[in-house]
Amino acid sequence: MKRAIYPGSFDPWTNGHLDILRRALSVFDEVIIVVAGTNRKNPLFSPEERVSIISDVVKAEGLERVQVDYWSGLIMDYAKKHEAQFILRGLRAASDFEYEFMMASMNKEILSEIETVFMMTSKNLFFVSSSMVKELYRYGGKIDSYVPKVVVQYLKSKIESKSKED
Ligand code: ADP
Repeated sequence: MKRAIYPGSFDPWTNGHLDILRRALSVFDEVIIVVAGTNRKNPLFSPEERVSIISDVVKAEGLERVQVDYWSGLIMDYAKKHEAQFILRGLRAASDFEYEFMMASMNKEILSEIETVFMMTSKNLFFVSSSMVKELYRYGGKIDSYVPKVVVQYLKSKIESKSKED
C-alpha cells in the first residue's frame, strides 16, 4: 500500500494542485491532502474552509483514493501517524527548488524512511499559483482556466464578505 501525503497551503486549491494530484493517483494507492498550518503566509481562507473547498473539488471530480485533512504540526509527525511512506510536492520554476530542497532535506533528517517525491508541473500550468489566482480575481481578471469551478464560487463569497467588513 503506497500512501502519499500531499501537504500545502492550498489557499486556494488550483488546477496546478489538481494536476499533481491526478498524476500522483497513477503512482500511489492513496493520497492524503493535508492542509498545513503555515506561518509563512497570511491566508485568505481558514484551514476549515480550505478543507471544504478541496473536499468539494475531489467529490466533483469523482476522485477516489483521496482523503483531505488539516494538520498544524510537523508534517513528518503526520506522515508517521498515518503510516505514509511518501511526501508529494510539485515543482514549477527553479525558484521553487531552493525551498523544496531545504524542506525535503530537513524532513529526511527528522524521519529518514520517508521519501519526498517531486512532480514537475505540466507545461500549461507552470505559472499558476494560489497567490496569482487571488491577485487576478481581486482585480476582476478571469480565473476560470486556473481553478476548478467550485473555487470560483468560494472566492466570490469570500471577497464579497470581506468587502462588506471593510
Ligand atoms: P506551500 O505553501 O506549502 O508551498 P502551495 O499551496 O503553494 O503550498 O503548494 C503546495 C504544493 O503544490 C507545492 O509543492 C507547490 O510547488 C505545488 N504546486 C502549486 N502550484 C503548482 C502548479 N501550478 N504546478 C505544480 N505544482 C504546483
